[in-house]
Amino acid sequence: MPISIGVHGGAGPRVEGDVGAVFGEGCLEAARLGYAILQAGGSAVDAVEAAAVAMEDAPLFNAGTGGALNADGEVELDAALMSGERLSAGGVAAVRRVRHPVQLARWVMERTSHLLLVGEGAEAFAVEQGLVLIDPTTLITARQRQRWEKARAAQVAPTTGGTIGVVACDQHGHVAAATSTGGTVLKRRGRVGDSPLIGAGTYADDLGGAVSCTGQGEAIIKVVLAKYACDLLATGREPMAVASDALKELDRVGGDGGLILVDREGRLGWAFNSQRMSRAWIDAQGQEGWGFQQ
Ligand code: ASP
Repeated sequence: MPISIGVHGGAGPRVEGDVGAVFGEGCLEAARLGYAILQAGGSAVDAVEAAAVAMEDAPLFNAGTGGALNADGEVELDAALMSGERLSAGGVAAVRRVRHPVQLARWVMERTSHLLLVGEGAEAFAVEQGLVLIDPTTLITARQRQRWEKARAAQVAPTTGGTIGVVACDQHGHVAAATSTGGTVLKRRGRVGDSPLIGAGTYADDLGGAVSCTGQGEAIIKVVLAKYACDLLATGREPMAVASDALKELDRVGGDGGLILVDREGRLGWAFNSQRMSRAWIDAQGQEGWGFQQ
């Protein structure tokens, strides 16, 4: 079976300066990491987790270290991971003291009978599993603090950008998706976006494919975008066309954002209606590439 991987580094408004290559290549680096796992015969779940963990560690992206600051100036992280093989999934939301929320989401999937753990309960579970909690201020980067200060001064509505997502198809014909984010800048404390919600920001089903969304979480949740796109994939249609069609649902509720997806044959697709969505891919023919703005 063909293997492939797609990565996004978040949808959002246009950014000034020549940063496209930095974001695009950052995505590609993560894609290569996941692809190496697939090439070695590893599972789609392992590939998406490894790529997502690397992006959580990269301060460039709004996930893990470098997560966006909420209205109280704190980083609260959301993440989910789903395997298309048995529709097993896990998510965590509003965690503050975990460096790799996507790894914790995988533990929720594999080591509990639940699907979503939030806040202190999620952190207590992490400790129970042997994880050492971190000082939450170590997740804050100078770049995100500046962004937060600017947004606060301008009293703007919460904005998106820099969330990460990964989809992959492995040689056994299984697909998986992972999404991880600090959410929107200036969000209320306790606000949960689409990323950790199975069906909204993240979904995978071997019968269709795997999907990771980014953009205005409230809009994405309303149209259950990832599951909607996955159902369209199950019809066998070409993934690029599916991505554009799925986006029309987001348009319907006036949401800005985008999505990446892979079908069970390893065909990749993406679409976005925001000004930018950094992304990278290594397709079923082994061709790699990246993109940034429209
Ligand atoms: N979808 C994320 C959220 O609403 C934000 C983003 O994709 O940038 O939490």
